[in-house]
Amino acid sequence: MFHRSRKNLATWFTLSMGSILVVFAIALYLREVRDRLQSFDQTLYDTSRLMAAGVEDYSYQGEQRTDLENVPVLGSDTLPLSTNLMFARWYTAERLLLQFMGAVPPSKLATPLGFQTQVVSNSQTLQDLQRSQPVRLRQLTLPVYQGDRLIGYLQIAASLDLVEEPLEQLRVFLGIGVPVALGAIALTGWVLGGKAMQPIRQSYDQLQQFTADASHELRAPLAGILSQAQVGLMEPIDPQDQHSRLVTIVQVAESMSLLVSQLLFLARYPGKLSPEMLKPVDLEQVLQPLLIEYTQQIQQKQQTLQVHPPSVPLRLLAEPDLLRQAIANLLSNAYRYTPEQGKIELILSQTSRWGIIQVKDNGMGIAPQDLPRIFDRFYRADQVRSRDTGFGLGLAIVRQIVEAQGGEIAVESRVGQGSTFTLKLPLPSLPG
Ligand code: ADP
Repeated sequence: MFHRSRKNLATWFTLSMGSILVVFAIALYLREVRDRLQSFDQTLYDTSRLMAAGVEDYSYQGEQRTDLENVPVLGSDTLPLSTNLMFARWYTAERLLLQFMGAVPPSKLATPLGFQTQVVSNSQTLQDLQRSQPVRLRQLTLPVYQGDRLIGYLQIAASLDLVEEPLEQLRVFLGIGVPVALGAIALTGWVLGGKAMQPIRQSYDQLQQFTADASHELRAPLAGILSQAQVGLMEPIDPQDQHSRLVTIVQVAESMSLLVSQLLFLARYPGKLSPEMLKPVDLEQVLQPLLIEYTQQIQQKQQTLQVHPPSVPLRLLAEPDLLRQAIANLLSNAYRYTPEQGKIELILSQTSRWGIIQVKDNGMGIAPQDLPRIFDRFYRADQVRSRDTGFGLGLAIVRQIVEAQGGEIAVESRVGQGSTFTLKLPLPSLPG
């Protein structure tokens, strides 16, 4: 599934980036073609203007004559122009051929005026009579005026090799460069796709692990309920035995209900709480019902509970029910993992930024190798890994509550000496 998604991501990345690249390369090429042709045409036009300036038209014994002797390329009295002209032709105002240089032209001008691109056989040209490959040339036909009077037409042409050679080089460069760039884009897409999939894969793995752990935890009590119920249904039924089975079923169902509510809790508050859910909370009010509840339990185990109140009444920025749940979980752990006659302390204090709640016990403590993992979901330290201890979700819930409210949690513990859990929660900002 992840491999397919990664492939899809890479493919879409390559297609989108590749199309941008191809469009860019085509635009670049077309611009280059246009610019080179424009500059070529301009040179051809400038040449034709220079040649037309050498034409002399005069009247001799009532007859109109045209003298081309001083026309560069066509005339014999001038130095040839340094151009790569393939031919030059002069036609009279009646469009009849008067003089030419290069391949033999038609005797009457039939081509339209202006620029034209033509393909001619090379044998027509002066450049190389041996080669007979077709040559592309750019031809310009211009009417030439003296005053308002049309005196003739000048037609010149030059090979487009000068334009085509660099364009050919550009085509080769793009032809190699674009596929290479596409390959690099595909590779980048693949690497980026892998990176993008990493957090998704991690959450997916965590979710799978969580679901597997939750199902595992639910399977054992369900099997217990089923077996008790099946035996209870068998004949003959001893009312005493049936009663004890029903009590077991109720106990197991209660523990399942606790597990389900813990799972729902973890699913319901996955991230930070919105600021509207947090309000200044008087810690004493949160603690009072808890202390009543736990004092009774603690006395049954002959443990003592000492509360160290803060020097001034402590107000925290928190969601009261969640805060109560977090402290209840810590007190419940302290009670369960501390032997009879042990001591549990609840220490409250504050710094300039934080309200601090510490739950300390002198119970069994936590081994150093377990410490980094006790806040993980379903983690239970090995030596107490039995059904009676709990599902390993209590501390995960405490951490989730504290972090959702912008706080921090820490633990210090020594095996055989006890543990101290410290919660830090933000103080409400002072008014004004
Ligand atoms: P559980 O419901 O199993 O107690 P928790 O998430 O509350 O799950 O605790 C995780 C593990 O951390 C417990 O299984 C226990 O090994 C250890 N632990 C938690 N609190 C204490 C404590 N006060 N003293 C010793 N061990 C503790």
